[in-house]
Amino acid sequence: MTKRRKLAAGNWKMNGTSAELGEVSALIKAHPAPGCDILLCPPATLLSRMAGQIGDAPIAVGGQDCHAELSGAHTGDISAGMLVDAGASHVILGHSERRSDHDEHDEDVRAKARAALAAGLKVVICVGETLAEREAANTLEIIGGQLAGSIPDLVTGDTLIVAYEPVWAIGTGKVPTTDQIGEVHDFIRLKLEKRLGAGVALSVRILYGGSVKASNAAEIFAVSNVDGALVGGASLKSADFSPIIAALEASG
Ligand code: PEP
Repeated sequence: MTKRRKLAAGNWKMNGTSAELGEVSALIKAHPAPGCDILLCPPATLLSRMAGQIGDAPIAVGGQDCHAELSGAHTGDISAGMLVDAGASHVILGHSERRSDHDEHDEDVRAKARAALAAGLKVVICVGETLAEREAANTLEIIGGQLAGSIPDLVTGDTLIVAYEPVWAIGTGKVPTTDQIGEVHDFIRLKLEKRLGAGVALSVRILYGGSVKASNAAEIFAVSNVDGALVGGASLKSADFSPIIAALEASG
């Protein structure tokens, strides 16, 4: 069986100024030699300071979005190369808040992912159904379409990470049952195998995201094909994120 190193990823969203960088110091102190990968994705304004602060400690830094073009007249946007220059090794793409707030579609996500991979970034591609889609029993169809449309061809087991984030679970405190999570994660693995071949697909980490916290983390991490979590609100404070990391380490 392919052993995938687990990943705890924190998405700070539009939260955090220099005052919050102390949380990173606390996290470094709490996990000097983590038994899983740790990734923090702060707002772009904090990227280079956070990367500098982390230095050689085993925590990676990532962006929350990038533009599909290398450079040019795109006011307010950030290129993949700029993320790399700021110290990022990863970028989250296709988060449901980008899809809804900025009308991003699968083809936009795929173009951004191509640019990110070309710049040397690993991509965390988010997929997930709305409540209406789940209630209409369309979850797997939606996820299948998002995977097919958002993931570019040139990914490897190392450069692609998929995050399953049911839209209705993000920031709401609502969490799918472990059966529901397992069904979607198994489905994602199967789709990746069909598309990329087993060799690549079995190395891709599939994260669960949506209201993960210390109290539900162990149960979620025990589900098949859950290789870690993409955590929003509970990643902002070391005291909240650290027990989630510990639960992931303990999940083996
Ligand atoms: C997210 O933003 O990716 C997320 C999962 O948020 P939360 O953990 O706050 O639900």
